[in-house]
Amino acid sequence: MTRQATGGSLAARFVVLGEHTLEHAELCWDERGCLRRVRRSRGPVRDVCVIPGLVDAHCHLHIDVVPGAPRRFVPWLGAVMARRATLPAAAEVAATRTAIRGLLQSGTTAVGDIDATGRAFAPLSRSPLAGRQYRELTGFHLAATAARALVHERALRPAGALAVGLSPHAPYSVSPALFRAAASRSRHLAIHCAEVPEEQQFLRSGTGPFAELLASLGRLPAAFRAPGVGAVKWLERLGVLRPTTLLVHCQELERGDVTRLASAGVAIVVCPGTIEYFQRAAPPVPRWLAAGIPVALGTDSRASNPSWSMLDELRRAARLWPSLGPTQLLQLATTNGGRALDLPRLGRLGRGGRADFCLLPAANSAAASVEALVYGEAPVLATYCAGRRFGTKSAAVATL
Ligand SMILES: [Zn+2]
Repeated sequence: MTRQATGGSLAARFVVLGEHTLEHAELCWDERGCLRRVRRSRGPVRDVCVIPGLVDAHCHLHIDVVPGAPRRFVPWLGAVMARRATLPAAAEVAATRTAIRGLLQSGTTAVGDIDATGRAFAPLSRSPLAGRQYRELTGFHLAATAARALVHERALRPAGALAVGLSPHAPYSVSPALFRAAASRSRHLAIHCAEVPEEQQFLRSGTGPFAELLASLGRLPAAFRAPGVGAVKWLERLGVLRPTTLLVHCQELERGDVTRLASAGVAIVVCPGTIEYFQRAAPPVPRWLAAGIPVALGTDSRASNPSWSMLDELRRAARLWPSLGPTQLLQLATTNGGRALDLPRLGRLGRGGRADFCLLPAANSAAASVEALVYGEAPVLATYCAGRRFGTKSAAVATL
């Protein structure tokens, strides 16, 4: 994990840069893994298609499989919390390392990770992956002083290729004071939003399974009064809907919410594996994209997804949103991921950015090569992170 990338170059039959594609092109990068040139090649090329490295815009790397986890959300959440309470720290570090290997083997070069315990920071910041890690905050019972103290304790400093942010977990688990403290401390927030109908019920009326869960945990303040609006309006009122905020799931949006989110400039990350796990309806991603909302894809966690593979997410996305073409689907997993994390150089290939890319078998065209990948007919042959090659079964991955 400590070996530095050396400078190098690769000439390919097709190179997908982001929105644009080149034929017979060469990528050259320096010893820091930074792209120096992307240009047409006059020499021989490898018969491959290069695409930008995939961006997993929402994951919880340290959460491993939760045996017997239910498929109803609130009991599932209880099972995840109970499991976390009993796991030794070493198990979370090991799960994070396993996740990093799984991501690299399947074409992912950047993540938006949510760290609830602080144990994923060291392995991720020392890994080849880029992206942003958000330290999670929960505390529905916290008033202003305690909220500021928690934010102060949890705030991270960037390290290596890793930018940082905060993740006030969700409107049903974070007090108004904690949302405000997080927003004043960090420009970059990741929030689970409008995930299930019970969340909207709780915010509208203060009743239902979330009220019961919070009461059982001793976290429902006696003075609590429901805000009386849905999750998006509530977050808007709290002042946390900003262009550098990323919302996760948004399964249960209400009338007017799409306009609200588009005008606030926030990004949405959807997690196809989690949608399938809980057998949820597909949210209207094509409508969100048409409204100008950047929509990205995430693997979420092993507690609701059998794999760490963004390739699996792409294939699920193709099933959930059949009206989106392969190029648009790839954008969800690349350029839109970079935008969602407010790291717009990720998920595209350009001079000055990292040499993060994947090699696919070349078909008749770049579009046909991407199509074969998205529909599961072609593999990722190798992943390059900052110019360093990780074959899908390479020793370099095994030593991480
Ligand atoms: Zn999540």
